Amino acid sequence: MTTIVEADQHISVLWGDFKNRDSEAFRLMRYVMRVDYEKVVLLHNAVTGHLIVLDDAEAEMLETFPKPYSPEMEELVRDRFLVPEGFDEHRQVANMRKILWKLEDAQRESGIVRYTILPTTGCNARCYYCFEQGVKRVTMTEQTARDVIEFIAAHHNGKPIIISWFGGEPTTATKRIDQICEGLREKGIDYRSEMTTNGYLFDEAMVEKAEMLWNLKSLMICIDGVESNYNRIKSYIYTDVSPYQRVMRNIELLTSRGIQVDLRMNFDLNNHKDFPELLKDVERRFKGNANLRFRTHPVNGEYADESGCVVHGDSDWFSAKVYEFNSAIRKAGLLRKSRKLLILKYGGCEASNDAAVVITAEGMLVRCPEQFGDDQITGNVRDGITNPQQVLSWKEFIEYSKCVNCVLYPRCNRIKNCSVKDLCNYFLELKKVAEDSITQHYKEWSISARG
Ligand code: SF4
Ligand code: SF4
Repeated sequence: MTTIVEADQHISVLWGDFKNRDSEAFRLMRYVMRVDYEKVVLLHNAVTGHLIVLDDAEAEMLETFPKPYSPEMEELVRDRFLVPEGFDEHRQVANMRKILWKLEDAQRESGIVRYTILPTTGCNARCYYCFEQGVKRVTMTEQTARDVIEFIAAHHNGKPIIISWFGGEPTTATKRIDQICEGLREKGIDYRSEMTTNGYLFDEAMVEKAEMLWNLKSLMICIDGVESNYNRIKSYIYTDVSPYQRVMRNIELLTSRGIQVDLRMNFDLNNHKDFPELLKDVERRFKGNANLRFRTHPVNGEYADESGCVVHGDSDWFSAKVYEFNSAIRKAGLLRKSRKLLILKYGGCEASNDAAVVITAEGMLVRCPEQFGDDQITGNVRDGITNPQQVLSWKEFIEYSKCVNCVLYPRCNRIKNCSVKDLCNYFLELKKVAEDSITQHYKEWSISARG
């Protein structure tokens, strides 16, 4: 075998070696991905990240597993592509994950550097699937914004920070965004920001302010259908112009100023048929625009549509559709290829990370921007963390019996409290992206090996 990408040393050392080679038959490890490309066989260990190309004899050997140990298998056994037949790699990975996560959590440098801030929970749209249905509409007061600035100044530990503006619709509360940015500037705190927005309220002046004052580098905008459906689903409070046309114009404005826009179509059984036409329109407007990326995403949650039906679709359906849609977007050149190979993931999202915090419109601290009810409060911007137990509850992970044999298991690490559907909805897409990265690495390696 020849190595194309080395294994991660920490993970390999932690895994250790198989002591007894003679007493058991060996088989392929469950979390190894095989890609047959042109005339070669590529194996990728999704735990250690190791990528190899097999020689002919090894490739032939693969067809007849399980088989007793022989010296020709040594390298594949040593690098955990092959494991004893009775070996429990699921338990091994679960244990390593716990150890590595505890180590990383303990070694994390102090200081909060990522702030998700909700300047308001109010919104100018009324999407039927919004997770904020029934949430009290609150806009941050001037005093709370002052407290937010002081909280950041006291906790960033001299480091640059990233702010994610979230809501509600953050652009309906730009006064508070301006105030917080001006306050950080006065204090000499280095910040940049990103935003989740429906994009409706942007115009030339707001785009300029976003660039100059908010230091806005990227934003995520959802377009959930073709013009007529988008306007119906969003159900904006304005009626003077077509919101679809206005948001598309704003995306042009934003990207022309170098701000990255991640355009997302949330879909379910209600609106999936809109995808081909929407893609055509996005392609017509933005093909070749380096600041725009388009992707699709299953609607999360179990919300009823306008007629009261819960019609979202199951995991297999979503997985097939995400793959189909994103393949079409890739073909249109609107989704950048990833070179990332699979490797053991042991941390969670920012909700489990002490260097990140979410600040609500009322100045409360919570862990996840999608769950900010009273039962989720961990503290506030005046007193800091007051409920450390609540913080700890976001460091617990969960898995299901179906994960044991899934090749994505090393990559899939889900926080117990997370309300978003698991990665099964993206299974085919993630597998395809991983396979493409494997062949991409191989192609680059073979070009450089030829010299
Ligand atoms: S949650 Fe789904 S994709 Fe993730 S490991 Fe389990 S079965 Fe696989
Ligand atoms: S919804 Fe889930 S993945 Fe997203 S921030 Fe919350 S806990 Fe993390």
